[in-house]
Amino acid sequence: MAKDPKYIFVVGGVMSSVGKGVVSGSLAMVLQSKGYSVTAMKADPYINVDAGTMNPTEHGEVFVTEDGDETDQDIGNYERFLGKNIYSVNYMTTGRVYLEVIERERNLMYKGKCVEVVPHIPEEIIRRIKLAQKQSQADITIIEVGGTVGEYQNILFLEAGRMMKSQHPNDVAFVLVSYLPVPGSIGEMKTKPTQHAVRLMNEAGLQPDVVVGRSSKSIDAVRRKKIAQFCSVDENMVISAPDCESIYEVPLLFEKENLGEKLLKRFGLKSKSVPPAQDRLKQLRKVVKVIKTVDQKVRIGVVGKYFQTGEFVLADSYISVIEALKHAAWSQKRQPELVWIDAEDYEKNPKQLKELSSFDAVLIPGGFGSRGVEGKIMAIQYVRENKIPYFGLCYGMQLAAVEVARHVAGLKGAHTVEIDENPEHPIIVVNPNQKENIEQNRYGGTLRLGAYDCVLSPGTKTQKAYGVKKISERHRHRYEFNNAYVEQLEKAGLIVSGVNPQQNLVEIMELEDHPWFVGTQFHPEFLSSPLKPHPLFVGFVKAAMTRSNGAKKTVKPTKRKITKR
Ligand code: GLN
Repeated sequence: MAKDPKYIFVVGGVMSSVGKGVVSGSLAMVLQSKGYSVTAMKADPYINVDAGTMNPTEHGEVFVTEDGDETDQDIGNYERFLGKNIYSVNYMTTGRVYLEVIERERNLMYKGKCVEVVPHIPEEIIRRIKLAQKQSQADITIIEVGGTVGEYQNILFLEAGRMMKSQHPNDVAFVLVSYLPVPGSIGEMKTKPTQHAVRLMNEAGLQPDVVVGRSSKSIDAVRRKKIAQFCSVDENMVISAPDCESIYEVPLLFEKENLGEKLLKRFGLKSKSVPPAQDRLKQLRKVVKVIKTVDQKVRIGVVGKYFQTGEFVLADSYISVIEALKHAAWSQKRQPELVWIDAEDYEKNPKQLKELSSFDAVLIPGGFGSRGVEGKIMAIQYVRENKIPYFGLCYGMQLAAVEVARHVAGLKGAHTVEIDENPEHPIIVVNPNQKENIEQNRYGGTLRLGAYDCVLSPGTKTQKAYGVKKISERHRHRYEFNNAYVEQLEKAGLIVSGVNPQQNLVEIMELEDHPWFVGTQFHPEFLSSPLKPHPLFVGFVKAAMTRSNGAKKTVKPTKRKITKR
């Protein structure tokens, strides 16, 4: 580890949702490729203590860390770019920071002093940043500040950055990710909003070292000069970040602009040589080549419920699932075409179910609550009977167990107690450790969360896909498979292919005599990255390709929302 750890704050300007998370992750990856140990963390302005209680259509996906924190989806971005675990210490919200300060005050830890917003809140933020750095032994720590400059919401995070910079001017840098609009009526890129954003940063006592200009096109020489001149940054520190086909192009783009070297120089550091086998940027280049050249598709239907809104919201609610499907498809030289199906459509019109035959495979992701449940079960029955590859994640696994119980094992009144408190056949029940939480209506942070061990049954499809005997995967759920039904369901053709040894819980199930009918109680999508696609997603895509090459599909696809690349 470097003697004096370096810190890079990434802040947003002009508007949100321009990809600050991707910029932070990409920047981390580029610096990592220069031989430095890098970590990334997120400071979220919400009062919420974690993202666990937020609605995915509003906030996007809840990402789960190895140590069981429910965080913002950007932590997932960092993991996918850096190829390593990012732990709970790397995530903070305003709520979390205040909670700590108030608890400390209650415990007399401020020794009778007046506890104030300034300096005590920024000091707590700095403590957390330094702790995250220490725990990961990072040479360089990237701190992404949620929101944009000029908001009340994130001002104390910026103040923390200012304080760190004034104490260690050579160890702290600021990157402004700003938006450069190209108004349709003018057709010319405008830099003024970015100039205003820099002024707002200046008001907070900050000056960007780098301006990353997000836009629909590249920044030309004239505008680069203008930004440099009016924002007091070096011309070569204005980085062009035009829209890309894939987010995985961004690190390559930064490398082309020499951003890594420039930042190292800012800190007085030099790049170190990285052995080719460990050069992740080099490996990413190969993946990007596949992304940009492969055309052959694998068509996957995703049946869920958070689909009413626009494509952006949709992609945000299921980002890790979408990314995992992409990683697996690219590893097989296929372009994933994901088609979004609202499960309630099948409840309203069961005839529509036959559209499922137009897919190479069908996936049901995690979920909560009753909406669309019967529609999902109908879809599962259809793909099971028609031998269409199926992958159920968490809720998708639980509902598959209910479907098999109802329609194969003949247990008519089978259900999950999440929906029916007292079913005739409770196939999915409350995890004993969760009973108290449910009875006392405890929500935030109380699910079965984070990584748990799982022992695989030799010779099963899933065990073969993993190629090992023991795995560990991340969880986020409250209900579990009821062991009292294992025997009956096994007689119906279900195979328990993975079990948590400590608590004897069913973690994976699959079906015999089916090309790929696999359900996982955990969320494998959280462990997938472009350079290391998840084995179960790869197995699923392979089964989809076999169907795509073989079975003749005569059913015409229904018009639906599609996500490509
Ligand atoms: N609602 C289910 C449970 O809590 C599944 C959760 C999920 O899919 N993440 O057990």
